[in-house]
Amino acid sequence: MEIFRKQKENFRDFARGLQERRVLVVCDANTEPFTENIGRTLSAAGKEISLFRFPDRHLVPEIGRLKELFAAAEGADYLLGVGSGVINDICKYLSAKTEKPCGILATAPSMDGYVSGVSALYENGRKVTLPAAPPREALIDVNILANAPLEMIVAGAGDLIGKHTSLLDWKLARNLKGEKYDAEIVARMEKALSLGMESAKKLVLRDFAAVETLIDGLLLSGIEMQRAGNSRPASGSEHHISHYLEMKGEEMGKDFAPHGVKVALGCLVSAAMYKYAAGEYAELSSLQGEIAALPAPETLSALYREIGLPAKFGEIGVSRELLEETIRNAWTVRERYTIMTFLHEKGALGRLAPALAERFA
Ligand SMILES: [Zn+2]
Repeated sequence: MEIFRKQKENFRDFARGLQERRVLVVCDANTEPFTENIGRTLSAAGKEISLFRFPDRHLVPEIGRLKELFAAAEGADYLLGVGSGVINDICKYLSAKTEKPCGILATAPSMDGYVSGVSALYENGRKVTLPAAPPREALIDVNILANAPLEMIVAGAGDLIGKHTSLLDWKLARNLKGEKYDAEIVARMEKALSLGMESAKKLVLRDFAAVETLIDGLLLSGIEMQRAGNSRPASGSEHHISHYLEMKGEEMGKDFAPHGVKVALGCLVSAAMYKYAAGEYAELSSLQGEIAALPAPETLSALYREIGLPAKFGEIGVSRELLEETIRNAWTVRERYTIMTFLHEKGALGRLAPALAERFA
C-alpha cells in the first residue's frame, strides 16, 4: 500500500500518478465535505469524477443496501472511499467484488482496520465478516484527522493500547499450544503500540504531531495484520470482549461505544486476568517477564482518565450483569487461544467473573 500525506507529498502526486481515469468517490453525510478538495485535485489531473453519497449520518453497512453503489461502480475504474471504518469496509468489499482498485481518504484515526483484508458488514441485520481488497492507496491529511470527533480520536489510541494484551495472548498461544508465531511482526506491533502510547496524552489537545503519530501506529498495525494474513497480532482477548459487546449491542439495538473504546476497556479485564494468573499457575512462568511488564489495570485506567477514554464499562452503558456475562462468554466468539481460553480450561473463568465484573463495571 502506498501512503500519501497532505503535509509532505501533496495529494496532487496521488492524482497525477493514478493510472485509472474514472474515479467513483464514496462518502456519507458526515464525510461529504471532505470530498470537495480531493475531487478538485483529481479533476485537475484529468480524472472523471462521480460521487456516490449515502444520505446517512449513522450508516449501517447492510449488503442489501449496496445495489445502487454497485451500479454506480460499473462506470468507474477506481473507487475512492472518503471516511473511516464503515465507508472503508464498504469500499474494500466493493473493490474485492468488482476487482477495481480502491483507495481511502481517512477522516478519523479511529481504528487499525484501514488496510485489513476483511470487511465487517451486515447481511439481513446480522454481522458478517467478508473478504475485501485492502486499499491500494491511503490518503492521510492530519488536518482532517485532527478535527475528527474527539471520541473517535481517542478510540484509535484505545485500539493500539489493546495490543498490550493481544501480543501477550499470541505469546501465550505460542508457549502453551505451539501456535505459529512471528517475532518480527511482534516487534513491529510493539512499535505500533508504543506510537499509540506516545501519542495518547496529547490527543485531547488535537495536537497535530500526536495525531500523526497515532495514525502511523494504526497504519503500521494494519500492515502487520496483512503481513500475518490474519488479525492474530492485533486482536486477542480484549477484542473478544469488544466483539461480544458488539453482538449484544446489536441484539439490544444499542451501540455502546466506538470499537477502540471497547477494546481499551477489554484490555483492563485481560490485564487483570494475566496479573491474577501469573501468581496462580506455573504454566505461565515462561511469560513471567512479559506479564510483569504489562501495565496494571489501575495504571491503564489512570491513563484513560487522563486522555479522555472511559475507564469503567458503566460509562459506556454496560451494566455489571452484562459485563459478567461478557467475561464468562467472550472466549467463545472465535477460535483463538487467549488468557480467557486458558482460564476457561482451568475452570477458573466463571469463578473469577463476578469479582472482575464488580471491579470494572
Ligand atoms: Zn481493533
